[in-house]
Amino acid sequence: MMNLIANILLFSMGLVTFLSLVTFAVLSLREGERRAAGLAFVLAIALSSPFFLVTLSTLQVKWIFSGTIGAIGFLGLFLFLLPIGRVERGHDLPLKRFDERDIVFARRRLIPGSPEFEAYYAMRPENRTIDDKRRALPGLLSTESLHADPNFFAAAKASFALTEAMREEVDGPVSGERMELSPDQGTSMIKGLAQYYGAVTVGICELQPYHVYSHIGRGSGTYGAPIHLDHRYAIAFTVEMDYEIMRQAPKAPVVMESARRYVQAATIGLQLGYHIRSLGYPARAHIDGNYRVIAPLVARDAGLGEIGRMGILMTPRLGPRVRLGVVTTDLPLIPDERRYDTSMLDFCRICVKCAENCPSQAIPTDDRHEIDGAIRWRINADKCFHYWNVIGTDCGICMSVCPFSHPDHCGHSLIRWAIQRSGYARRAALWLDDHFYGRKHIPRPMLDWIQKLTV
Ligand code: SF4
Ligand code: SF4
Repeated sequence: MMNLIANILLFSMGLVTFLSLVTFAVLSLREGERRAAGLAFVLAIALSSPFFLVTLSTLQVKWIFSGTIGAIGFLGLFLFLLPIGRVERGHDLPLKRFDERDIVFARRRLIPGSPEFEAYYAMRPENRTIDDKRRALPGLLSTESLHADPNFFAAAKASFALTEAMREEVDGPVSGERMELSPDQGTSMIKGLAQYYGAVTVGICELQPYHVYSHIGRGSGTYGAPIHLDHRYAIAFTVEMDYEIMRQAPKAPVVMESARRYVQAATIGLQLGYHIRSLGYPARAHIDGNYRVIAPLVARDAGLGEIGRMGILMTPRLGPRVRLGVVTTDLPLIPDERRYDTSMLDFCRICVKCAENCPSQAIPTDDRHEIDGAIRWRINADKCFHYWNVIGTDCGICMSVCPFSHPDHCGHSLIRWAIQRSGYARRAALWLDDHFYGRKHIPRPMLDWIQKLTV
């Protein structure tokens, strides 16, 4: 009888191990991750076969084997609960507002000889040399660039043209008839609508002065004019960027995907804005090329994630593989709690994979520092953008290699669950990620469905 119980237990454990790893292997194959799939298949056989083989041995051997497995389980639990990798919360609110004219995308729009050009470099002469060097490069979507591809670039240009066409639609007249809504009703309606329109996650926060740029650098309005945005709330949302396309980084499909997701985020933002204004409340959408707010900071404070080593939002389910949209409004809403997910900050502290793979060494390799009153990482946007202007695309290597960017299926979700709860699990997950997916970025071969987008 004891022998039968031991056999059933051992066989069940072997079967669960085998099926879990085979499932992971199949999911990895569907992601196009052959190395991870192969490793998972090998582990499925190697880790499950001892359970099956031991069922053929004596009862004494079975008990010794079971005892060893139990001890390993207890050791794993002990390590899981070890209080390591703690990161202090807070100290991450900027003390001053950021001038939009200083961001590389605003400087890129300056036309030599124009009054804005002269005024900007009179104000920031230290940026003149680096910008002149960048202006001499082939440029984004240029046929002379390193990764030029007429088809993908044409698709990207079409999306950018559409976003451009939407730029003046970010605000508009507010209906004179106001519908009275409680904060509860407004919140559930807005979150439901945003998800219905295609957002993956939605959060709300009270708009803070440091969310808002100090001066206009691009988009509607007068260049250099001070920004006054007195809406009470900000609605932030994410849209997912395609995993398989991002694995092509830094090749041309990446910029096509990036442009497409800007369109998607802009569309959702405009729809929400029109809707809120039709209810009698002011609302402004913040879309690519026409922001008044710093979207990653708003999204972080709205509970959608943390700012990671790359200086962009890291979300719990998709990591940095998202684009952001924001709508600011006076519609009564209930703000979300900020997540304060220090597990993500600890993971970024030990990982450094994006920085190691960045071709322009734009991502810092050291720990966070205080910048303008906030402890954070800051990438060198000039170096990053310089590289984009050489290759002609959005690069995206950092996003592609990030262990948080893996698709949101059960295997990765289980690992993310453990990462959030245990410092040891974070270290183990990073080791596993290096072995399953490699430490170095290698662009994946272009999948059939992506290839078919070209002529
Ligand atoms: S690659 Fe690593 S260090 Fe970089 S953002 Fe992702 S988790 Fe953080
Ligand atoms: S997009 Fe490319 S160049 Fe820019 S920070 Fe990421 S890896 Fe570096």
